[in-house]
Amino acid sequence: MPGVLLLKAHRSEGADMSAEGDCIFCQIAKGDIPAAKLFENERLVAFSDIQPVAPFHILVVPREHIATINDLRRKDQSLLGEMVLLAQKLAGEAGLAESGYRLVLNCNADAGQVVFHLHLHVIGGKPLGGLVS
Ligand code: 5GP
Ligand code: ZN
Repeated sequence: MPGVLLLKAHRSEGADMSAEGDCIFCQIAKGDIPAAKLFENERLVAFSDIQPVAPFHILVVPREHIATINDLRRKDQSLLGEMVLLAQKLAGEAGLAESGYRLVLNCNADAGQVVFHLHLHVIGGKPLGGLVS
C-alpha cells in the first residue's frame, strides 16, 4: 500500500515564529549546522531526523525559508511536488516502495510542529499503525 500524505492545515499563528537567521533548518541547508544529508540540490535538502520514530525517518526540506503550510503560495506548487517526488525516490532507494512509508506535514501547534521551517517527514521501515492518534 502506498504511503499516505497527511495535510492538517490550521489557522496561521501570525508572524514568522522563527526568523530565518536562527532557523535550524536554514542553517542545516546552508551547511552551518551538521546533519546526515542524503540528498541536496538547488531547491531541496534531505537529511536524517535527529530523533527518528522508525528505522527510516528523514526530512525533506526546501532551502527557502517557509515557516508553515499556511505560508505556502501558488508559486510553491512545484516545490511541493518536488518534495513529494524526492520523498518517493529516497524511500524507494531505502527499499520501502513495496512495504510502504508515510509522508507527514505538520502545521502549527495542534499537529505538533516544533520546527517552523516547512519539512516533509518520510517515515518507514516498520508497521506504523493507525493514522490518527
Ligand atoms: P515537527 O514536529 O516540527 O514536524 O518535526 C520536527 C522534526 O525535526 C522532529 O522530528 C525533530 O526530531 C527534528 N529535528 C529537530 N531539530 C533537529 C536537528 O537539529 N537536526 C535534525 N536532523 N533533526 C531535527
Ligand atoms: Zn528556515
